[in-house]
Amino acid sequence: MKKSLKERLAILSDAAKYDASCASSGTTKRDSSASGGLGSTEGSGICHAYAPDGRCISLLKILLTNFCVYDCAYCINRSSSNVERARFTPEEVIWLTLEFYRRNYIEGLFLSSGIIRSSDHTMEEMVRIARELRTIHNFRGYIHLKSIPEASAHLIEEAGLYADRLSINIELPTDAGIGQFAPEKRPDNIRRSMGNLRLKIEEMAEPTLQTKRRKKFAPAGQSTQMIVGADGANDATILGTSARLYGSYGLKRVYYSAFSPIPDSSRNLPLIKPPLMREHRLYQADWLYRFYGFDIGEITAGGVNGMLDLDLDPKLAWALGHRDRFPVDINRADREMLLRVPGFGTKTVKGILSSRRFRRLRLDDLKRLGVSLKKVQPFVVCDGWTPHRLVDRSDLRAMFQPKPEQLSLL
Ligand code: SF4
Repeated sequence: MKKSLKERLAILSDAAKYDASCASSGTTKRDSSASGGLGSTEGSGICHAYAPDGRCISLLKILLTNFCVYDCAYCINRSSSNVERARFTPEEVIWLTLEFYRRNYIEGLFLSSGIIRSSDHTMEEMVRIARELRTIHNFRGYIHLKSIPEASAHLIEEAGLYADRLSINIELPTDAGIGQFAPEKRPDNIRRSMGNLRLKIEEMAEPTLQTKRRKKFAPAGQSTQMIVGADGANDATILGTSARLYGSYGLKRVYYSAFSPIPDSSRNLPLIKPPLMREHRLYQADWLYRFYGFDIGEITAGGVNGMLDLDLDPKLAWALGHRDRFPVDINRADREMLLRVPGFGTKTVKGILSSRRFRRLRLDDLKRLGVSLKKVQPFVVCDGWTPHRLVDRSDLRAMFQPKPEQLSLL
């Protein structure tokens, strides 16, 4: 008996939850009329995503289908899996998106899919959904489309005309890992797709002599996802791959998704989930690389066997390994060094640099900027405060280690 739309929505939204790459950062809303308060967000298939400005948005996050002709060992939807299968038609996805949007449940759509028949056939259906939403139904919400591996370049290019963001999952940090666990995928093809997409995004962003206006083409750029803990790659390898992806393909984000053991999985896969804290530390390290001027080698050098320290955030771990660089005089240090002080975010550093043009700063000024004094005191000097030898104390690491009640993520 054919499953009802509601049953299929339950299956295909649950199947989509393994994809972490659905934040909608880096774009603006297409329709100011949709800026009213959000309605219920309790429905099946609705996920929350956070933009960098802290705005929380709701997306309908679903798969077009969880049937798949590929057999990636780490994936619940692989062809050899016993999972319950379902499929939407493009018309059903369009209808669901419009209904949820009109009821103010969502601000956009995140659409991925298993591969049915062929990569091109699947990608064609996904592009059709985005095209009809935009051109027939005048849908102004956010659209994030997953690009299907091996899909033709012209289809991915067409997707960029209608989607705000496109993403192609690299899934594993090394070609050897992809070869072992996703033998039908070609890492070269994934990188080629990313490269083509980057060129197209840059080309379309250039104003032409005739229009002098930028054309809209995947304005929120491209992103990818890496699974953490499925293969043996350490954090240094994962972050090194991320750095190459950011540098070579202009990715907006690399998302890290802690591997979840799945039923009937390959015997080569681990039986346990890596600690969620590992995923969290990778995000922190990724942030240091992109916004704080650290290179990957600096971030991972202090760890054991290329792994980040789970007990301390990577910036604090770096500072404790480089105590000779501290304390930092917040009234004189340059931006680069201020960004390396544990407890200082980019906004704090901006606030320090602008405030100190008018007067010399004290600890109270840091407090006003929202800084945790307990965290920064060993690392800074300012008017009225010097930490003396505090930064050299042998128990400094223990002072910052999480208490037992804070270990829920470990
Ligand atoms: S191609 Fe995608 S959906 Fe299909 S098995 Fe691989 S990861 Fe899963």
